[in-house]
Amino acid sequence: MMETRRHYPLLVVGAGHAGCEAACIAAKMGIEVGLVTMSFDSVAHMPCNPAIGGLAKGQLVREIDALGGIMGRMADRAGIQFKMLNRGRGPAVWSPRAQQDKVLYRAIMREHLARAERVSLIEALVVDFLVVHDRVRGVSLGDGRTIGADAVIVTPGTFLNGLMHVGDATYAGGRVGEGAARGISGCLADLGFRLVRLKTGTPPRVERDSIDFARMSPQRGDEPPRPFSHFTDLLEVDQILCHLTLTTAATHDLIRENLHRSPLYTGKIRGIGPRYCPSIEDKVVRFAEKPAHQIFLEPEGRETREYYVNGLSTSLPEEVQREVLKTIPGLEAVEMIRPGYAVEYDFVPPTQIKETLETRSVAGLYFAGQLNGTSGYEEAAAQGLLAGVNAALALTGREPLILGREEAYIGVLIDDLVTKGTEEPYRMFTSSAEYRLLLRQDNASERLARRAREVGTLNAEELRRLEEVSTRRWAAVDRMRSTRVETPPHRAGSLPHQVGSLPPRAGSLPRQAGSLLAHAVRDGDVSLEDLLGRDDLAEFGEEAIESAAIEIRYEGYIERQMREVERASRSERLEIPESLYTEPLRELSSEGREKIFRLKPRTLAQASRIPGVSPADISVLVVYAERERRRRGHAPAPA
Ligand SMILES: Cc1cc2nc3c(=O)[nH]c(=O)nc-3n(C[C@H](O)[C@H](O)[C@H](O)COP(=O)(O)OP(=O)(O)OC[C@H]3O[C@@H](n4cnc5c(N)ncnc54)[C@H](O)[C@@H]3O)c2cc1C
Repeated sequence: MMETRRHYPLLVVGAGHAGCEAACIAAKMGIEVGLVTMSFDSVAHMPCNPAIGGLAKGQLVREIDALGGIMGRMADRAGIQFKMLNRGRGPAVWSPRAQQDKVLYRAIMREHLARAERVSLIEALVVDFLVVHDRVRGVSLGDGRTIGADAVIVTPGTFLNGLMHVGDATYAGGRVGEGAARGISGCLADLGFRLVRLKTGTPPRVERDSIDFARMSPQRGDEPPRPFSHFTDLLEVDQILCHLTLTTAATHDLIRENLHRSPLYTGKIRGIGPRYCPSIEDKVVRFAEKPAHQIFLEPEGRETREYYVNGLSTSLPEEVQREVLKTIPGLEAVEMIRPGYAVEYDFVPPTQIKETLETRSVAGLYFAGQLNGTSGYEEAAAQGLLAGVNAALALTGREPLILGREEAYIGVLIDDLVTKGTEEPYRMFTSSAEYRLLLRQDNASERLARRAREVGTLNAEELRRLEEVSTRRWAAVDRMRSTRVETPPHRAGSLPHQVGSLPPRAGSLPRQAGSLLAHAVRDGDVSLEDLLGRDDLAEFGEEAIESAAIEIRYEGYIERQMREVERASRSERLEIPESLYTEPLRELSSEGREKIFRLKPRTLAQASRIPGVSPADISVLVVYAERERRRRGHAPAPA
């Protein structure tokens, strides 16, 4: 950590999940970075769920890792339980998740930042941005200093006018125990950005020794645990148990009797909350017919006695929370260490940024993380990575990195944010990706190694490692395609854990001895256990065998999605020229015209994803875009 300089090529505001990724990746690309944050002690803090990954989030972490980001490596080092979710469904939705020791996670991230070349960690509050002629020039700090910069990435999370609620108590703050960063909202509004209120919440924390685990069902990690990072050799971890219990009718009755004291229901909280991470109040009201809701007891770390009550996010008064806990089996005698709370905060609707995460109105100013309306450590980290890469590319005069929806969940995330925007906390889901069978967690390295090489975010050794993963995977495919089946295996369905959940291909005949192993895999006639137990595949390792089996098992579906991508890429390639915005475009619908002029989509496909832009609007754009291409002497876009 060096002395604070007067000027940095790049400043990052906020050392949360987005800020840490942005700073580290830009520094890895050769840029000197100042990382300014309110407190060194809360670097990469997890204010809620002590876990990384989960449905679609796990895919994001694997992609961040394949592009040279750090979240996956840190999660492997601080992980205390590892699980592949959705194993019972098709591999397109298998998602890695790891419980985290959040104290250790913060410590290793801070150590990583301290050792990172070209990163200076600065403990200060940013209160304003210096902007001259619509270009950012630096920041002002709370202690009166200013620091100059050629580019600034803003990642303040939930700290913009953060307001916390527990029952009818309200206090300023972005997270419990940390102050609010009032200033930034005001100066972003002065710069012309539109800000909107959102809210999120967290459950109470309870004391480990007061939990009666015998009345709950233990939840174990996978054996052997599988790492997030492609660069983690071996995970040797003494995995910790989580536990599952359920709410009861008494829980729901007590909550209903006290709704009038929940700021969510008194109207005190104006911000819109995360639809898919509802408070327990919302669950009891919205799903009144459900007799019980799942509650997971998750350790906050190896050393701490604090347990996280996953599924009980609430802002009910403290004394009510204590009573609610005692209605849950296993928590009858529990001690609450700290209450759950809700936090309201400002965010900037992300249609105000470009695909590079640079703002549309101030050059050199980038937004990433919860500031753009997302909710989740992983969504924030993914944006921070892209913002850091694109700021570094812009500072060195290179073309930006824009990932397609068919390349990565990160591409889906950014395209959704800048094209459709969001008016409620955005969370990634596998259903958000129309090409999810191509965007699996097992092929992230293959999908993104080329991009990492292009922009220089992986060193030679890291690239070699990714190359090796890919080589092993395809060697396993070739082996399955060239190996004869000795004896007719069982019919599918009778075998546990067969690859994928699709039933055997209709009409597939019972396997004859001597047919190819790949055909048995394709038709679901062989289980993963069988494949993993074969000596002639052992050299490739479990992950490569599993990934190879998926490639073969879903070959037809993958080819079909590749054809869909090819068809869609034609309209993705049809760029909308800037000159189009000098035209009156009276043929467009008024809503279509307003949105297209405001969002300036880069391609026709992007325009077609903007809510309110009709197919008729698109055909008008095609005419103009084609005319412009001809005028420039380009061949017409391929049909
Ligand atoms: C109560 C609560 C519950 C949540 N529940 C979950 C959950 O269960 N799972 C999940 O995935 N996500 C959850 N989130 C959201 C998650 O924490 C965020 O999505 C994620 O941390 C966003 O990352 P970020 O980098 O954008 O911001 P953060 O991780 O919040 O980091 C922002 C950083 O910027 C610093 N900062 C802010 N303003 C300034 C300033 N002016 N000057 C200097 N430094 C500044 C802060 O100190 C902080 O270090 C929750 C958040 C809260 C607050």
